Amino acid sequence: MADRNVMVYIESVKGEPVKVGYEMLTPAREIAGGGKVTAAVMDSSADSIANDAVSFGADEVITVDTGDFSAEKITSVLKSLADEHRPDVVLIGSTPAGREIAPRLAARAGAGCVSDVSAVDCSGESPVYTTPLYGGTILNNVSAVTPLQVVTIRSGAFKKADADASGSGDIKAETVEVPDSDLKTKITDSVVEISEQVNLEDAEIIVTGGKGMGSEEDFALIQQLADVLGATVGATRPVIEAGWVSRAHQVGQSGKIVAPKLYMAFGVSGATQHVTGMIGSDYIVAVNKDEEAPIFDVADVGIVGDAKKVLPIFIEECKKIKA
Ligand SMILES: Cc1cc2nc3c(=O)[nH]c(=O)nc-3n(C[C@H](O)[C@H](O)[C@H](O)COP(=O)(O)OP(=O)(O)OC[C@H]3O[C@@H](n4cnc5c(N)ncnc54)[C@H](O)[C@@H]3O)c2cc1C
Repeated sequence: MADRNVMVYIESVKGEPVKVGYEMLTPAREIAGGGKVTAAVMDSSADSIANDAVSFGADEVITVDTGDFSAEKITSVLKSLADEHRPDVVLIGSTPAGREIAPRLAARAGAGCVSDVSAVDCSGESPVYTTPLYGGTILNNVSAVTPLQVVTIRSGAFKKADADASGSGDIKAETVEVPDSDLKTKITDSVVEISEQVNLEDAEIIVTGGKGMGSEEDFALIQQLADVLGATVGATRPVIEAGWVSRAHQVGQSGKIVAPKLYMAFGVSGATQHVTGMIGSDYIVAVNKDEEAPIFDVADVGIVGDAKKVLPIFIEECKKIKA
């Protein structure tokens, strides 16, 4: 396996790294082999991100204070860093911003661009990236033939390494001039949507209810079990469309991609568009009254039964264990 230099752009929001930020250091180490992993952090106020990046596997961290996070500016800075540090692969989180930056960077650098990668095989000459197509129905294996490869990584697809406090790495601040010609648009105003904050991506336990819960009143059982377990509530798209919970709870292809330690699904059929979003969970428990339901194909434990009868038993038993 060849040694490669890998640059990882760790996106941050309000001084906090996005979840996929540190997760990307895991495939970065694998792709690099004996090469160097460099993290790029564009938020100089977030020193802790740089230190954490070292403990999660970066050999060096470059911080650049960009002032704002417009895709054009970040692209321009990453292009300059790539010209200077000559990585073979640049990893970017598959976030809304990352999906905007990666193709711009690839186009400007003449690089191959691979999007939404969920697995990497580094056993051959060149890394082979797995990307889901058609809502995860097809998994495509892609390798890029260009000297520089720009790759976006799906959140939750890789586990963050255990933090190694003894990890050492250089942290250096750089100043990168962004030419005016690189900035074709100007952000005149930003409006933050005031919506319910639901952190499904970082949840260790998720209790999800599907349309099989029957009604908003019975869906409340999902919240009750979540409360007992200290879990976060997830939902399928039909539940959102029925207005039982807000869109912030949606798991799946057009919702959030999650990877908790425990995922519990009640009255969820297991449609591809839902499973795509939770297949990375460590342990899946499913309750469905239809023994043929596809959710059982991905479940570690399946219970054929009425979720509205099983849930109160779960809640009582969990309360007893916790008491
Ligand atoms: C482009 C696109 C994107 C999509 N994105 C998403 C997405 O992000 N997330 C998502 O979830 N869906 C998404 N969908 C919708 C998806 O295709 C499915 O329709 C949806 O996941 C089904 O939700 P469900 O399992 O809750 O409902 P249903 O398919 O109606 O299934 C309900 C299940 O509950 C079971 N059931 C019924 N009563 C009970 C009971 N009392 N006890 C136990 N089980 C019971 C039934 O046997 C059935 O299996 C998307 C679809 C498209 C086309």
